[in-house]
Amino acid sequence: MNAEIIAVGSELLLGQILNTNAKFLSEHLAEIGVNVFYQTVVGDNPNRLKQSIEVAETRADLIIFTGGLGPTKDDLTKETIANHIGKQLVQDDEAMESIEQYFIRTKRHMTENNKKQALVLEGAKVLPNDHGMAPGMFLRSGNHFYMLMPGPPYEMEPMFLNYGKQAILDELDTVEKIESRVLRFFGIGESKLETDIQHIIDGQTNPTVAPLAKEGEVTLRLTAKHPSVEEARTLLDQKEKEILDIVGDYFYGYDETSLMEALVGKLAENKQSIACAESLTAGMFQSDMAAIQGVSQMLKGGIVCYSNEAKEKLVQVKKETLEQYGAVSKECAKELAENIRELLSADIGISFTGVAGPDSLEGKPPGTVWIGIAIKGKPTKSYLLELASSRNGNRRRAVNYGCYYLL
Ligand code: ATP
Ligand code: MG
Repeated sequence: MNAEIIAVGSELLLGQILNTNAKFLSEHLAEIGVNVFYQTVVGDNPNRLKQSIEVAETRADLIIFTGGLGPTKDDLTKETIANHIGKQLVQDDEAMESIEQYFIRTKRHMTENNKKQALVLEGAKVLPNDHGMAPGMFLRSGNHFYMLMPGPPYEMEPMFLNYGKQAILDELDTVEKIESRVLRFFGIGESKLETDIQHIIDGQTNPTVAPLAKEGEVTLRLTAKHPSVEEARTLLDQKEKEILDIVGDYFYGYDETSLMEALVGKLAENKQSIACAESLTAGMFQSDMAAIQGVSQMLKGGIVCYSNEAKEKLVQVKKETLEQYGAVSKECAKELAENIRELLSADIGISFTGVAGPDSLEGKPPGTVWIGIAIKGKPTKSYLLELASSRNGNRRRAVNYGCYYLL
């Protein structure tokens, strides 16, 4: 099955809002093996919407609309589609009930045009709206499937995840099951990974293998199709093994797991605490860590020691170290990691010191970063990075590498 997304809304064309609905839907459709070949944006204009539908019907099996399901005059999606495919709009009692309840709950007065929102295309499966009034719809007409959902992302996203996706899967179920899995890698470039497993990527059919690179991370999405779910999973297992036999050293997790989540999981398992001294990352490592639930067991805290003064006064780095080797040095990274670990009696101390850029520092080029890792009872380690991203790209990558070395 292949799909086209049509986002309806003049505000999208005026540049007032970003089409995040298309991004969200594309991502989730890919997960269930539905290929999105086109994304279209059209204003709140029935003639142009009709033209877009006609074009989409020539190139997609499934057409997903977002926007224009509201009660106001400019909301025309439903009417235009009804007219185009020759279906009536009929009142859906459950939707009507849910709209009335919505008004009672929010203590607002229901106006006549709100009733319009309970009208659905005849024969459509109604997708409940748990966060607003306009219900979504899914129906088949001729050779095409149509899905209609409201514009606001906080209404559309849960509607799709809770009802829309399943409605599509039910249709796909009659043919084949789709199972997908994402393998995540770090510390290996996309081109190296692709080269190493070129023969696997080239020969791919089922499962398909799709690489994607971001912030120094590379992911591979494996998607298998088979009438039996078990068989589809077995295909994934086999392909995964084939891949990890070659590049398993760089593998760190599945699906949506971030490096930081993997790290937090490991620290929790080992019951280890951590303290941080951050110069160029200025708290980014700790902020990322604190974004994950349950981190209070392990994150002792730390210091943003951006200046040499802070490194010396707050983390007790020796003046001589700073004078002799500079702040961007192995020696400084080691002292920072060891001292912060001791200051906070943590099991692990980690430090980041480097040149974010764009200017050089202490004669060292932007992207030069030292990471220190001090673990109780073990010799302190330090790692040199020579990054080549933007200022914030370098900072982000330093944080990712910090996680990677701790993993
Ligand atoms: P409402 O009942 O709120 O009018 P609606 O289904 O009629 O919902 P629209 O009127 O088209 O939807 O859009 C309402 C709001 O939803 C927009 O102002 C915008 O903030 C958001 N929105 C609409 N389409 C998109 C999109 N493609 N991506 C992100 N946000 C969107
Ligand atoms: Mg609207």
